[in-house]
Amino acid sequence: MNRKYIFVTGGVVSGLGKGVSAASLGLLLKQRGLKVAAQKLDPYLNVDPGTMSPYQHGEVFVTEDGAETDLDLGHYERFIDENLNRKSNLTSGRVFWNILTREREGGYLGKTVQIIPHVTDEIKSAIYAVGEMTGADVVITEIGGTIGDIESQPFLEVARQLRTEVGIGNSMFIHVVLVPYLACSGEYKTKPSQHSVHELQGMGIMPDCIIARSDKPLDDDILTKIAMFCNVERRAVIGNENISPIYALPLLLHERGFDDYVVSRLSLECGECDLSSWHTAVDRMLCEKKRKVRIAICGKYVKLHDAYLSINEALYHAASWNDAELELSFIDTEEVEKEGAGKFLENVDGILVPGGFGARGIEGMIQCARYAREHDIPYFGICLGMQIAVIEAARSLVGLKEANSREFDPEGKECVIDLMDEQRNIVVKGGTMRLGAYPCEIRKGTLLHDLYGKNLVQERHRHRYEVSPVFRDMIADSGIVFSGMSPDGKLVEAMENPACRYFVAVQSHPEFKSRPNRVHPLFDGFIKAALR
Ligand code: GLN
Repeated sequence: MNRKYIFVTGGVVSGLGKGVSAASLGLLLKQRGLKVAAQKLDPYLNVDPGTMSPYQHGEVFVTEDGAETDLDLGHYERFIDENLNRKSNLTSGRVFWNILTREREGGYLGKTVQIIPHVTDEIKSAIYAVGEMTGADVVITEIGGTIGDIESQPFLEVARQLRTEVGIGNSMFIHVVLVPYLACSGEYKTKPSQHSVHELQGMGIMPDCIIARSDKPLDDDILTKIAMFCNVERRAVIGNENISPIYALPLLLHERGFDDYVVSRLSLECGECDLSSWHTAVDRMLCEKKRKVRIAICGKYVKLHDAYLSINEALYHAASWNDAELELSFIDTEEVEKEGAGKFLENVDGILVPGGFGARGIEGMIQCARYAREHDIPYFGICLGMQIAVIEAARSLVGLKEANSREFDPEGKECVIDLMDEQRNIVVKGGTMRLGAYPCEIRKGTLLHDLYGKNLVQERHRHRYEVSPVFRDMIADSGIVFSGMSPDGKLVEAMENPACRYFVAVQSHPEFKSRPNRVHPLFDGFIKAALR
């Protein structure tokens, strides 16, 4: 079978959930026995989202091979459950970077370097590369932004060109549009969809399939009208009203014949769609819950919940799996500094300090870790959250009053979190952290070992600082157990406080590996402890 290429574009407005639609299709095709790869093309000029503020962009998702990527890749991994790689996310910035580097190296042999063909060829080769690297039957490529944006035009041109190379039978375009509701006339309006499709046609692209996003379910006449005026078959217009949880979307799209249409349009050879395990997970999410679990995420990017997207999802997976309704609160640790931790944490069942960068709100996080330890409330530290827990232990249990991280106290004498010697001369910011999957050896007899049930695990990293070897023994003597280490014994990967019911912190980001139908053991353990 020839490899098939599916492009997903968005029209009318941004934020329609194209990524979730693309991820749902990926799941449906995978469950029909196909090998699926997913990719996101982002029109912005940053080389990757790694140096962008979470407030600009939401969370930075990290792949197994250490790429810092768009959060949509998290949806792809959670839905399709295939590891993505560094080719899975391409920004205009990366494209230009590659081209200009090659140009300076004389790689174009005196030619004029142009958007067409050089930029388009660079993008096209990344799309083909994803197919080749993964051996996928189907490559799903989501084009970020909204049709009509100046900066996404090269990507659309690539989609158009690629169709001429692989053939109409091996490629298709799915356009996700908003169908707005006008309350004053009580109607859904299809005109914006028509305009958006016209715009796409102006770029030489005729969509094969339209996902019509709306608040409430759309009537057949609206869907028929969209088909008629947007030039697609009626069965290729799929209504997609808002639904919750988002994990129910693949089930809805399947019921509405989405994967059937894609399979027949691309003549895919595959079986029936087996959604049984997904159904079980969604049923557990939807069933009436007898109990609640109240978790506080204590950090500094709390105004934008997308900044902690994978953590929110991992907690949700674990809570649903444990038959509990998740009640999340987001605590701004700068407020904790002003008003004390008790005011915010008095009524919570679990405290999670997530990853983060920069000094703002750090003292508040330390207060939250102290509150958790002193009141024996389950604590889960992730990356910065582990560093915070170590600083807190060093101050309170060892008595190092000035304990801190080199990140927040560059001249400090008691930096229990520090740069390793080999890192000291690195000044470049982007892509210079410890990134991607690293092994962690787990000490037997620890809570961590009970939770994972394994001696060796791989988790993904994204950080610069480490627990300093200088203070490690002192901290261990105070009762903290370093339950996970890098196999060479040099880097602390995990710590716990056996004096508490559940006080576990890791240097990695386990949230990236949680799946709705395969809950991550550390999130599962945390939620179980919080429910106890
Ligand atoms: N800022 C810390 C470091 O760079 C933690 C990073 C994180 O939490 N992702 O080490």
